Amino acid sequence: MNRSINSTHNPSLRSWIESANQKDTDFPIQNLPFGVFRPRNSNNSRIGVAIGDRILDLAACCQVGLLQELPQELQIACTAPKLNQLMAMGSRAASALRDRLSQLLRADAQNPPLESKILCSMSEAELLLPADIGDYTDFYASIFHATNVGKLFRPDNPLLPNYKYLPIAYHGRASSIVPSGTAIARPKGQRKSSQEPIPSFGFSQSLDYEVEVGFFIGSGNQLGHPISIDNAEEHIFGLCLVNDWSARDIQAWEYQPLGPFLSKSFATTISPWVVTLEALAPFRCQAFGRVEGDPPPLPYLSSSLNTELGGIEIAVEALLRSEQMRVVGMQPFRLSCASFQSMYWTVAQMLVHHSSNGCNLRPGDLLASGTVSEAEAETQGCLLEITQRGSKSIQLPTGEVRSYLVDGDEIELRGYCEQEGYARVGFGECRGTVLSTSTKSGV
Ligand code: CA
Repeated sequence: MNRSINSTHNPSLRSWIESANQKDTDFPIQNLPFGVFRPRNSNNSRIGVAIGDRILDLAACCQVGLLQELPQELQIACTAPKLNQLMAMGSRAASALRDRLSQLLRADAQNPPLESKILCSMSEAELLLPADIGDYTDFYASIFHATNVGKLFRPDNPLLPNYKYLPIAYHGRASSIVPSGTAIARPKGQRKSSQEPIPSFGFSQSLDYEVEVGFFIGSGNQLGHPISIDNAEEHIFGLCLVNDWSARDIQAWEYQPLGPFLSKSFATTISPWVVTLEALAPFRCQAFGRVEGDPPPLPYLSSSLNTELGGIEIAVEALLRSEQMRVVGMQPFRLSCASFQSMYWTVAQMLVHHSSNGCNLRPGDLLASGTVSEAEAETQGCLLEITQRGSKSIQLPTGEVRSYLVDGDEIELRGYCEQEGYARVGFGECRGTVLSTSTKSGV
């Protein structure tokens, strides 16, 4: 169902909200992503849908009876302060809601509703985390990223033997996931360079970002009941952008033998709008093609539908704006642009592998793809790759140079889908600025 094109994708649909009809908007009527917001004059968080530069307030829609044709349980889920309940109802319920919202927002809607009661200007709202995220898992699904990073540490043997058989991941930290716009404090930790005999404790000197795509679990699975590849996507509510901030010096010293820990758990930024899998239906494509000689995925990770349509064509970009660039009003500098289609593992395969041992996934859990990089230099999705572990620097338009992030740097991720014959669908912003460290003590 998630992959079918229906009337909500019709590119000729227009909304009575004029800003949703602009060519370059991330949020046309064909998108309708879900999120949670708090109007500036209110203490209550509520579920909303992004439309142009406005937010449609779902609790308010329920209040004035605009969703009364939907099942009672679905209406109740729309008035909750987070998306978990709606996510738990599964893709069929989300699809029924999307269809109703599309009708309400169309330019030719019968009796267009009272704007002031159900709309909030995006500039008048604070965008919050869309769900209570119980668990967060970060994958490593780009073979290009894995190879590039592997080469820096093991030039002769960049890719470990398990890589082409299973989607590699580690358990991330859910409590430090923050919405776009939250300032990022430079973490402190233990670092030890190869020249130093013992480690020291202080601010990370190698702060990095990672461009990733995340996906939220909709209906979960019971403990002991793995999800099959055939209906895996029914368990995915939607996608967002993820910046997996990483302290490379802390990571290098701590990651063996059990993987990343404090080098990642200090902050993860996500974009606040969740673009449903249904909204992405026009942008589905073949899973990344394995080259000759690569093993086929084991049967539990394999289906013809996944091979034919498991990929999603999303362009993801990373941009940097230094404090100096902000002061003089310069546009951010683009560090990379890559396609999510190039991931070695599909979202369905990551989800299936995660539950394959019986592990239960719950509504609102977040799974992230790992850094999205392709083969070419301008596609590499983190500074570790771009600067070859800090050994090469990049130059910003101001003449400033970077090997890793300095205080005041802002990283913004963007994601969008474009396909001939369909409306452009965007993800909105995923932004974070590295806070100035007030004291350099401990460096
Ligand atoms: Ca990562």
